[in-house]
Amino acid sequence: MKVLNEMSVNFESRSVNEAFARTAAAAFAAQLDPTVAELNEIRTAVSEAVTNCVVHAYRDTIGIISMNIRIAEGNILIVKIRDRGCGIEDIPRAMEPLFTTSPEDERAGLGFAVMQSFTDKLTVRSKPGKGTTVTLEKRLSPRLSDV
Ligand code: ATP
Ligand code: MG
Repeated sequence: MKVLNEMSVNFESRSVNEAFARTAAAAFAAQLDPTVAELNEIRTAVSEAVTNCVVHAYRDTIGIISMNIRIAEGNILIVKIRDRGCGIEDIPRAMEPLFTTSPEDERAGLGFAVMQSFTDKLTVRSKPGKGTTVTLEKRLSPRLSDV
């Protein structure tokens, strides 16, 4: 996979930064000339991943979230979101729709399901006590200028 462009940004796990992260991701993805629907899907998937870092990984504390975005040959966008928070004990279980460890906060347990449906590939790596890395991969539709 040939990477054509890349950016990284670190920010604190404050909920105000959820909007910052999704807007930054959309701004970087804009060079691929995505459709409005694709841009909304990217925004939503990034938002879900970052929200999880804020409310789960660094629950009751403030930590650093790192976001790395690469653009690869073939109109592919790869967004990596990493935290050094609490980690996930059982990843397959966490990824099941409607599973949540925070029902008391009225969480629906649908964040991973949303990320999955709005991207082509979702990878989750995690170690309890060490942190979590979520990688979202999305192939954008080819535009007129590519044909
Ligand atoms: P919703 O996203 O619908 O508000 P939710 O966040 O609980 O609810 P998911 O986003 O699908 O649902 O996440 C499922 C579970 O995975 C969470 O309840 C949490 O236990 C765990 N989890 C997800 N991301 C992280 C993370 N970055 N660090 C630690 N735990 C996480
Ligand atoms: Mg969530």
